[in-house]
Amino acid sequence: NGVLDGKVALVTGGSRGIGAAVALRLAGEGADVALTYERRADRAAELVEQIKAVGRRALAVPADSADPEAVRAAVDRVAGEFGRLDVLVNNAGVFLTGPVGELGPDEVERTIAVNVRAPFVFAQAAVRHMTEGGRIVSIGSNVAERAVFPGLALYSMSKTALLGLTRGLARELGGRGITANLVNPGPTDTDANPADGPNAEAIRGFTALGRYADPAEIAAVVAFLAGPDGGYVTGATINADGGFTS
Ligand code: NDP
Repeated sequence: NGVLDGKVALVTGGSRGIGAAVALRLAGEGADVALTYERRADRAAELVEQIKAVGRRALAVPADSADPEAVRAAVDRVAGEFGRLDVLVNNAGVFLTGPVGELGPDEVERTIAVNVRAPFVFAQAAVRHMTEGGRIVSIGSNVAERAVFPGLALYSMSKTALLGLTRGLARELGGRGITANLVNPGPTDTDANPADGPNAEAIRGFTALGRYADPAEIAAVVAFLAGPDGGYVTGATINADGGFTS
């Protein structure tokens, strides 16, 4: 018996990294879980098998977050196939960095489309299906609060937008018993930021704990917010960043 028994969760970018850890954790708590992905159908299929192995229903939907029509269609498909939607986790993101003078228009467009517009459109589509107890959790970033080295202006800007989205949604949806919160992870060992990558030693040094997070440690915070114990938390930002911003 899990705290999310009977609930349906949608995790964007659930094929790898933090999203995959969130998908598995929510399934472990009892939810049926759908995930979107962009290209890695192989990894998405693996996740589906892992979720089914813990006895939950699973669905992987290819949907480029940059395409609002694909986003809306994905939400409607999940709600249609699973009959409801209780938890949305806005996780899919791109990490495009570089000096402001060198970032091209495509990188700017892509970052805004995937990191900013998509969470808005996902939320917009999801709340039409949500009822009392609904949950929206977005994954921001530690560097929204502390742009710790050069090259982060575009990415930091995109993640800071999620603060406004979260607060606005919390205020608007509170009357319906739906919460909206933001989790800002610190350096987390994924393909996007491997703990053995070229800058890992320096990045580790920016944290108080002196180490990367395991994706499961971020997933645990999301699970708290998605479950009944998080019921009175809304409009909040939780830093799960190993003290990066401390
Ligand atoms: P990964 O690069 O490891 O995984 C990204 C996931 O998002 C994949 O499942 C990928 O799908 C999906 N995705 C990317 N772009 C799109 C798109 N356009 N449409 C649909 N799905 C897409 O990233 P992380 O797990 O490291 O990051 C997850 C989130 O956490 C991001 O929002 C990131 O900004 C944030 N974050 C990460 C930190 C870290 O240190 N790792 C620190 C702070 C925040 P596919 O497999 O098909 O490519």
